[in-house]
Amino acid sequence: MCGIIGIVNTLPSSIGSSNNASYDVYRGLLTLQHRGQDSAGILTYDNTSREFHLEKRKGLVSSVFDKGTLEELKGNLSIGHTRYVTVGSDHKSNIQPMVTGIPFGIGMVHNGNILNFYSIKRILREETGSHLLSNNDIELILNLWCHHMINMGTRGFELDIAVKALKEVYKTLIGAYSVVGIVSGMGLFAFRDPHGIRPLVLGKKETSLETSWCFASETLALNILGYEYEREVKPGEFVFIDNYGNMYNTIIKSETRNSHCMFEWVYFSGVESELEGMSVYTSRLNLGKFLAKKIQREIDQKIINPDVVVPVPDTSRTAAIAIAETLKLPYREALIKNRYVYRSFILGNQQKREQAVEQKLSPVKSEIFGKNILLVDDSIVRGTTSKKIIALLKRYGAHSVTLVSTCPPLRYPCFYGVDFPSTGELIASNRTEEEIARIIGVDKVIYLEIEDLKLSLQHENLCLACLNNDYPTPIDDKNIFQEIRNHEMKTQREYL
Ligand code: SF4
Repeated sequence: MCGIIGIVNTLPSSIGSSNNASYDVYRGLLTLQHRGQDSAGILTYDNTSREFHLEKRKGLVSSVFDKGTLEELKGNLSIGHTRYVTVGSDHKSNIQPMVTGIPFGIGMVHNGNILNFYSIKRILREETGSHLLSNNDIELILNLWCHHMINMGTRGFELDIAVKALKEVYKTLIGAYSVVGIVSGMGLFAFRDPHGIRPLVLGKKETSLETSWCFASETLALNILGYEYEREVKPGEFVFIDNYGNMYNTIIKSETRNSHCMFEWVYFSGVESELEGMSVYTSRLNLGKFLAKKIQREIDQKIINPDVVVPVPDTSRTAAIAIAETLKLPYREALIKNRYVYRSFILGNQQKREQAVEQKLSPVKSEIFGKNILLVDDSIVRGTTSKKIIALLKRYGAHSVTLVSTCPPLRYPCFYGVDFPSTGELIASNRTEEEIARIIGVDKVIYLEIEDLKLSLQHENLCLACLNNDYPTPIDDKNIFQEIRNHEMKTQREYL
């Protein structure tokens, strides 16, 4: 998962002036930091000098950019990216945005995963001689699109050829992709995969001086930057907004069923955001209410006897409040998060994750000692974090711990941008709830039911593949994908 954003300041007065879009892109990236913490980058296009300006590095947004670098990122067109590594290494060659000058200037950022990346990469090389310089999906998409435009005889940016070429790209790509990009001197564009797996929204801001448009992964970026939410970019849609604010849009490819990633509401998106018309905050309250009904049945049967509800901060806090209210139990923040330690789930390897768990949660002994704790987490992926937290609670004197998860058991890999692609890594893949409870050291584990998840999110068009093995796209390339993900660069070289 990554965070993406793009802005065009469109009035003629802003074009060629010092009104840089990069500062708002930077502020937007700060709000999207939770979507990826490995690297950050901003690309701009300056109509005065007719040059791209690019700054990208490993690290958090606030450490990659300062006042000086932002002032050098001139231009009314800007895109930005925060990266979360799933496939491919975190080598600097994979950092976005990526840009090309042939057949004309295009820069792009994306969120998602191309499942058949390695097949396309090989075909592209064999058929066209193209040699990608990274293992990043966006370089592949960029090359493929440019290859088709060149074959169609494009001479500079021509919208009709760009759309025709993109149709060819869509025929080839399998996976999840929300993309935002710049065409040098022309405007800003965005497109989204035909299932709409990853989110992408459009906002507009009008002031007395200028009109600006913004594409972003989440509405919270629009809110902070003062943009009015206009709409979602539709699944399979291409939108182009030129330097003067003229908008063109078309559906490149549609599917009978949209499949929005349920994990965006459960875990990934900021709680202030709205996705597909559904507030993330409301959906997490609903997850808690439905889960509370299941927990109540266990209490009624005297299987568990909790006396306090404790969230694993931060994502599960909203659901924990709803659970405590529904069960009429006290809600206590018995684990305090050190906000300066990275989110453990999205750190790149197991060792880093385990160290981060120990450093990031500080227990409040008075709220733990002697208590029967109902511990609420948003999901149980590998079980690593849960096991450590439970050991911590026991060490501080918890009498018993019941772990409840607002996400149903994650049993199948994700090929669309979330870092649990290997079945063997998922604690629930081949285990009963009793076995899971034993491994992570709790008295009982209680998961939300899939039907209750759907009711909570109030959406029919969801991707639930990691829960029910029903993938929205063909997954013929899954073995290569998993193998390369597991062995990273070594296996990749052998295969290629
Ligand atoms: S498989 Fe799971 S995590 Fe991946 S896109 Fe689908 S719902 Fe989201």
